[in-house]
Amino acid sequence: MKLTELDHLPSGLLERSASALHHELDGPTLIHLKGKNPQPLFVTVLQHGNEDTGWEAIRRLLKSHYEYDHLPRSLSILIGNVQAAKHRLRRLDDQLDYNRCWPGGKHEDSDIGKMFRQVTDRISSLAPVASIDIHNNTGLNPHYAAINRIRPEFLRLASYFSSKVVYFTMPLGTQSLALSEVCPSTTLECGQAGEVHGTDHSIGFLETCMNLGEIPTTPLQADEVHLFHMVATVRVHDDALFGFGNVPTDIAFRENLDVLNFQELHSGISLAELNGGPGQPLIATDTNGIDVTSHYFRFDRGKIETVREIMPSMLTLDRRVIQQDCLCYLMERIHFEDHIEGTDHDPLPDSMRRSDRPGEPSL
Ligand SMILES: [Zn+2]
Repeated sequence: MKLTELDHLPSGLLERSASALHHELDGPTLIHLKGKNPQPLFVTVLQHGNEDTGWEAIRRLLKSHYEYDHLPRSLSILIGNVQAAKHRLRRLDDQLDYNRCWPGGKHEDSDIGKMFRQVTDRISSLAPVASIDIHNNTGLNPHYAAINRIRPEFLRLASYFSSKVVYFTMPLGTQSLALSEVCPSTTLECGQAGEVHGTDHSIGFLETCMNLGEIPTTPLQADEVHLFHMVATVRVHDDALFGFGNVPTDIAFRENLDVLNFQELHSGISLAELNGGPGQPLIATDTNGIDVTSHYFRFDRGKIETVREIMPSMLTLDRRVIQQDCLCYLMERIHFEDHIEGTDHDPLPDSMRRSDRPGEPSL
C-alpha cells in the first residue's frame, strides 16, 4: 500500500459522500491545499470508516471557501480508511484499526504503520499550527475533545471545540498522541455519525483554526476547561439479569441511564433498583485491573448508589455492548493548573500516565 500525496483536490471529490470516496481514491490520501497563511492546519478524517462527520465537515468547509474564495490558511487533509467507509464499517476484518497505527504504537512495522510514519514526517516538516483528528462515537455522549499533553496550547485548542476535555495517554498509536510531538493536537469526538449538529460544530471549530494566527500559549483560567481522565471501567456481573425502567430483573437501571454521560454525579445518586441477584451487581476495575467497586458504589440499600463524585461516559442502553464490552467508564476531574507540563507543580500520578486497558477511551 502506497501513500497518495496530492497538491490539489481531485475534481468531483467534494461531491462524494464518505461511502463513495473509493470511486476517486485507492487508499489513504494526503492532500495539501494552499492558503493565504502558509502554515497549514492538519486535519485527519475517516480513520474509522463509519465515522463520517470529519469528511462531511471538510466537504462543506471547502465548498464554501475553496470554490469561491481563497483559504485563509493552508490545509493538509489526510483521508483515511476509504475501503472501510465504502462498507460503512470502522475497519474491515483484515485491516488494523488505523487509529492504533501511528508512530509510537504497536503496529509501526505494518504497511499502514509505515505509511503513517511517512505522513507524520511529512506533516512535521510543514510545522503545522495544529493537528485535528475527527471521530464519532456511539450512545448519547456530548461532543468533547481529547488531548495527550497538559499544556496551555493543547488545552486552548481543545477549548475551542468544547469545555469538556479528556486527557489520555493510552491507547498508544493514536493520531493525536503521535502528532502531540509535532504541534498542538486534539481528537474531536463529535457525537454519533450522521448528526448535522456534529458537522456544524466541527466546521465552526475548523474555521476558528483556519483563521487564527497561532494558538495562544497563555495559561487558561481554571473554569475555561473541565479536564477529566479515565479511572475505571464498570461491568455488569455475568450472573446478574438486568433491564431498564420498571422491570422485575435483578438490576433495573434507570430508563434513561445514558443521559448521565458526562454529568458529574454527586455521592448518593441511584443508578438502579436491585431486586436480588449477585451481592455485587457491578464490578469496577481501575486501570491496572484492580477491583475498585467499593470505592465508587454501594449496593446495601436496595439500589446501586454512588459513594463519591464521579463522571460516567459511554453509558449505553445497548444490551450487547454492555454484555460484550462494559456498562460505562468512570472519569475523574484533573485540576490541570496543578499539572501543566514543564512547571514545578506536582507530576502526574502513575495512574494518569497509564490510562491503560481496560479504561481506555474508544477513540
Ligand atoms: Zn473513531
